[in-house]
Amino acid sequence: MRPTRIAKPKQHVAAWLGDWNRARQEFDWDQVRRELAALPGGAFNIAYAALDRHAGGARADHVALRWLGRFGNERTVSYAELARQTNRCANALRELGLAKGDRVFVLAARIPELYIAVLGALKIGAVVSPLFSAFGPEPIATRVNLGLGKALITTASLYQRKVEKIRPTLATLAHVLLIGEDSRTVSVPGTQDFATLLARASEQCAVEPTSTEDMALLHFTSGTTGTPKGAIHVHGAALMHYMTGKYALDLHADDIFWCTADPGWVTGTSYGIIAPMLHGVTSIVDEAEFDAERWYRILQDQRVNVWYTAPTAIRMLMKAGDELPKRYRFDALRFIASVGEPLNPEAVWWGNDVLGLPIHDNWWQTETGGIMIANYPAMDIKPGSMGKPLPGVEAFIVKHKNGGELEIIDQPEVEGELALRSGWPSMFRGYLNQEERYKKCFAGDLYLTGDLAKRDAEGYLWFVGRADDVIKSAGHLIGPFEVESALMEHPAVAESGVIGKPDPMVGEVVKAFVSLKPGHEPSEALKLELLGHARKRLGAAVAPKEIAFLAVLPRTRSGKIMRRLLKARELGLPEGDLSTLEAGA
Ligand code: ATP
Ligand code: MG
Repeated sequence: MRPTRIAKPKQHVAAWLGDWNRARQEFDWDQVRRELAALPGGAFNIAYAALDRHAGGARADHVALRWLGRFGNERTVSYAELARQTNRCANALRELGLAKGDRVFVLAARIPELYIAVLGALKIGAVVSPLFSAFGPEPIATRVNLGLGKALITTASLYQRKVEKIRPTLATLAHVLLIGEDSRTVSVPGTQDFATLLARASEQCAVEPTSTEDMALLHFTSGTTGTPKGAIHVHGAALMHYMTGKYALDLHADDIFWCTADPGWVTGTSYGIIAPMLHGVTSIVDEAEFDAERWYRILQDQRVNVWYTAPTAIRMLMKAGDELPKRYRFDALRFIASVGEPLNPEAVWWGNDVLGLPIHDNWWQTETGGIMIANYPAMDIKPGSMGKPLPGVEAFIVKHKNGGELEIIDQPEVEGELALRSGWPSMFRGYLNQEERYKKCFAGDLYLTGDLAKRDAEGYLWFVGRADDVIKSAGHLIGPFEVESALMEHPAVAESGVIGKPDPMVGEVVKAFVSLKPGHEPSEALKLELLGHARKRLGAAVAPKEIAFLAVLPRTRSGKIMRRLLKARELGLPEGDLSTLEAGA
């Protein structure tokens, strides 16, 4: 058995957040606001804070983006250059008649033009929604229609493959603007070559003087538990991105930072675009998809200092074996963080053993707009815990009493719903077209997250499961995370997803779906071994009663295991919204 904690590094003097209690006491959102120079007259625009602030100052020539193309080509773009390019983009959009409040969708692979389009559109006060480029026509149509998209910025090939056929259904869409290298060579009916418009546009631009409360971004949730919801975010969210970039990701001005998330998900925009630019650091953007060898090479060759990734990627690296990373050196790496799903203790330890640094889990949601709970650098890690709430964030464990009232639980180790005190700047301001659903998320000034958690005596928060996924078996409440983490400790297990299967005797029985590491084959003997291992670790009441092997577990494109789909398939029920299901699952 592993120890229950990893002591904080001795050399943490340089970390921003050294003393959690003091930082929380002294914290003040106005101070954050003052650090991020606003526009004249008190206006606040994300793109101005992220780019123009640096472009006019000492960091003008500092590299903002270092882009690694799929085929080995590279491009670097400085802050000054990115400010000019986004000015051109803003002016070109204005020329077309687009203005503050208009909805601009961006559908592209991780190419520099995507970053220019998102920030350029923010500069005119448009509401931007970056879509994942792997979406098929249906999910694109649903989102553009729900968001009343007026312009779509995309590439010729994506347009022809995914949008052309559904174009007649996109009633509000007035402009399709083609970006990327392929846009200039082909002329596609119904679209405009954005590169030509950009070339004609001026490099000077008056940024729209938006307020912190003006709508800026529209992000769709991952669809892990049902149909994705469109969460509305405002320009002021950048205060949270800035603060958490500092405290939860420990960004320092000369850092090289790599956030592996795609901007089609909230992480890829909040922490792949906005937070690093607010801090003036250099971001690595990799166009290619996951590949263990490529990722290790990037960490080494690009001398990445701070790396923000996801449990699914870490589990895939673990699956690729521990020999591979031995061929690389990660001597520039200082801090690793992860978000998106619970991070199994085994994965935290793996980082410590194989990369030389533990992985710091943090928790947030599309709705919260930024990191809320984190293991920060100068903190002992208890593997399996999400950490503690950041300065400016108040988290509670609550129970729903009969009669609908809420009780705040003060005692440690009691499971309940995780709730947050409303008022942090990146809180979502609504679900698109779902006012009732939005209202249901709040009880007084508490935002109810839909996740179950508990707090220990030292104030660390532990994820138990999503309220929808928790299993009720013979009077016990069982969180899938605990069971999955125990299974992952077995050397044959790469990943597991656990569900409750209805049972007339005990309510639900725990069933685990398991995928194996290379070199291990499914067999009855292995099944019995895993059942025995789980029983030893968890006790008979919590351990799975059934295990099934799957080559891959179904997951969302943002990398989350879709337990609802495992359950629907097990029970022969309708599979529900599959718009975010990763291909091949
Ligand atoms: P949907 O709301 O459409 O079902 P989703 O909740 O997966 O999808 P996101 O907003 O992308 O959409 O994900 C937020 C959720 O991810 C959280 O509510 C939580 O359940 C899970 N999550 C994120 N980070 C962590 C973490 N560090 N530990 C445990 N769970 C996490
Ligand atoms: Mg959710």
